[in-house]
Amino acid sequence: MKRAADIAMIFIGLIVILQIATKADAAARSQIIRQICDNQLENNQTQFVPNFVKTTDLLGAEIRSSFIGTAHVGTGPDTNYGLAQCYGDLTTEDCILCYAEARTVLPSCYPKNGGRIFLDGCFLRLQNYSFYEEDLGPNDIFICGKTTNNNRLFGNTVTRAVTNAATDASRRNEYFGREQMQVPNTRNEYVYVLADCWRTLNQSSCKSCLQNASATILKCLPTSEGRVLNTGCFMRYSDTNFLNPLAITSSSSQRGKIIAIVVSVVSSVTVLTVAVMIALCIYKRKYIQKKRKGSFIDAKKLAKILNDSRLNFKYSTLDKATENWSESNKIGQGGFGTVYKGVLPDGREIAVKRLFFNNRFRAADFYNEVNMINSLEHKNLVRLLGCSCSGPESLLVYEYLPNMSLNLFIFGDETKRKTLNWEKRFDIIIGTAEGLVYLHENSKTRIVHRDIKAANILLDLRFRAKIADFGLARSFQDDKSHISTAIAGTLGYMAPEYLAHGQLTEKADVYSFGVLLMEVVTGMENSRNETTEYTDSLVSIIWKHFKRGTVAEVFDPNLMMHVYPNINFQKDALKVIHIGLLCIQEDPSLRPSMPKALRMLANDDELLPVPSNPPFINEETMEFNITQKLLGDDDSSSVATISHDLFYPR
Ligand code: ATP
Repeated sequence: MKRAADIAMIFIGLIVILQIATKADAAARSQIIRQICDNQLENNQTQFVPNFVKTTDLLGAEIRSSFIGTAHVGTGPDTNYGLAQCYGDLTTEDCILCYAEARTVLPSCYPKNGGRIFLDGCFLRLQNYSFYEEDLGPNDIFICGKTTNNNRLFGNTVTRAVTNAATDASRRNEYFGREQMQVPNTRNEYVYVLADCWRTLNQSSCKSCLQNASATILKCLPTSEGRVLNTGCFMRYSDTNFLNPLAITSSSSQRGKIIAIVVSVVSSVTVLTVAVMIALCIYKRKYIQKKRKGSFIDAKKLAKILNDSRLNFKYSTLDKATENWSESNKIGQGGFGTVYKGVLPDGREIAVKRLFFNNRFRAADFYNEVNMINSLEHKNLVRLLGCSCSGPESLLVYEYLPNMSLNLFIFGDETKRKTLNWEKRFDIIIGTAEGLVYLHENSKTRIVHRDIKAANILLDLRFRAKIADFGLARSFQDDKSHISTAIAGTLGYMAPEYLAHGQLTEKADVYSFGVLLMEVVTGMENSRNETTEYTDSLVSIIWKHFKRGTVAEVFDPNLMMHVYPNINFQKDALKVIHIGLLCIQEDPSLRPSMPKALRMLANDDELLPVPSNPPFINEETMEFNITQKLLGDDDSSSVATISHDLFYPR
C-alpha cells in the first residue's frame, strides 16, 4: 500500500507540476477572453489553409519587432488579411507568448473564412477581406465581471479613469492609454484601466471606437471588472491590478501590495493543498478500481515519466533553436502544424513541429503520449525526441532527416526522381514495411498509423526509410481544431471501411501501404488534383493495366535508366505492383497482414494470390475496355493469369 501511495504522490506531483506551469502561463496576459468566428465557410481549402498559415507566420515575425503586424496573402476570395496587435503595456516576452496562444487557438474557427480573438494581452483577426479601417461593428460586445464592488465611490473613479485612458489613447500616434487611480477615501483601493486601439485606424476612428467603449464599459458597474471588445479597440477596467507594474511611490500602497502578495500566496497554497488531497482521494478510489481490473500502470513506468523529463523541452530552447521560427528554417507544412529545422545548443539537429492547436490543457496526456512514442525504437521509425508540452504552444521535437520526405523525390523534378534508382526505392519499400510490422506487432502498444503516405516516409542521409507521424494521431483525433491541409491528398490513401465507417484496424495501414507501393513504382500521385495530367485515380489506372497485362507502361520512366544486369527490374516492379493490388483489395480480410506483405516482398518464392478488385473503381467503363481488348468475359482470375503469363517468366 505504501508503494501505491508513493505512486499516487508521484502521479499527483506530475499533474500538479504541469498544472502550475499552466497557471503561470495563463497569468501572463495570454488568457483568452473571447473568440468570435464568422458564419461564412471558406472558399477553397487547398488555397485557404496555406494562405492562413503563411499570414499568421508573417504576423508573428512582425509582432515580435513592433507589437503590431498586418499581412495579407493570396488572391481573390481565398486571400487572408491578418492583423495582430499586443496591448501597449505588455513586455516583449508577454507579447510573443500572447500572440503564440492566439495563433494556436484561432484556427479552431476553420473552416469558417475568418475570425477574431481577444486575449488579455493581444488581439488577432483574420478575414478574407481588408478590414483594417473598421472601428465598430455588429460583433462588438462587452463582458462584465462576476463580483460587485460595494464602494459607492468606485463607479465615479472608474468613469474618470476610463475617460483619461481613452483620451490618452486617442491622442496622435498613441493608440494606447493606461490609468491607475485611487478610489477617494481609501488607503489602497485603486481602479486600473487599459485602452488600446488598433494602429491601422486613423486618429478619428480610434477616437470614436474608444468613445463608444468608454460609454459601453460603464454598463458593467458596479461589478469590479469590465471589458469591451470592439472591432477596432479594446478596453478594460478592474479593481485588481492587471497592468504591467508602474513605480508606485506611496509606502502604504507598497504595504498593500506586499499584503496582497502574501494573501495570494497563502490562499494559493491552501487551494493547492486541498486540490492535492481531493486528487489523492479520487486517485486512491480509481487505483482500487483499476487494481480490481488488474490494469494498473506499473510504478516503474510512472517513475520513468518523471525521470524522463529530458523529454520536456523548454519553449525558449526551441524558440532559439529555430531562430525565432524563422522563415528560412521552415522545412514543411502539414495538417497539424508547421515544421522547422533547428539546432540545439549541443549542436544536434532537430525538426520541430509547431502544432496549430495547443495541448497545454491536456499537458499530462500529451506528455504521456509523447513518452510512450519515445519508447518505441526501430530503425525505420523517426525518433520523437520530446515535446514542449505545457508552454504557450504545443511543440514536438523529432530527429532531423536531411533528405526530408519520399514525396519530394518520387513526385519531384527529373533530377530528384533519378536520385532514387530502383534499388533505393525497393529498399525504401522494404524499410517502410519493416517499420509498419514493428508498429503493428510491437509488444508495448499496438499502433495503427492511420496516415501512411509518401510525405510521411522520411529519408536519412543514405535514403533509408523512416516512418513519421505515428502514434500521436490517437491524441489528436478529438481535436476539432485540426486543420488538414492535405485532406484531398490523404483521402487517396484511406481504406474504404475507414473512410465510410471509421473502422480502424491494421488493414487500413495495409491499404495505404498498397497505394504507396504503386506511387513508388510509377512516380504518379494517387490523389487527383488540378496539377496532375491524368484524370483517373492511380489505383484505377493500375488496375486497368494489370488486367490488360500492360503495367510496364506506367512504370516511372526515370527508373528505366537504372536497369542493372543483375536486377530483373521489370519482374521486381511488377511484383511490387501485384502486392500493392493485394493490399488495396476492397475487402479488408483479403488484404495480407503487414508481416505477410513483407514476406511477399522480400522472398521470391511466396505465392501471390490473384487480387480482387480495389474499391472506387468504375467497373462499367473498365470492363468495356477489357472485353474489347482481351477477354470477352469478366473472369478476373483469367485476367490475372494473362498478366502473370506476360510478366513472370516461368
Ligand atoms: P499531415 O500532417 O497533414 O499528415 P504531412 O505529414 O505532410 O501532413 P508534417 O508531418 O507536418 O506534414 O511534415 C511536413 C513535411 O515536413 C514533411 O513532408 C517533410 O518534408 C518535412 N519534415 C517533417 N518532419 C521532418 C523531419 N523530422 N526531418 C526532416 N523533414 C521533416
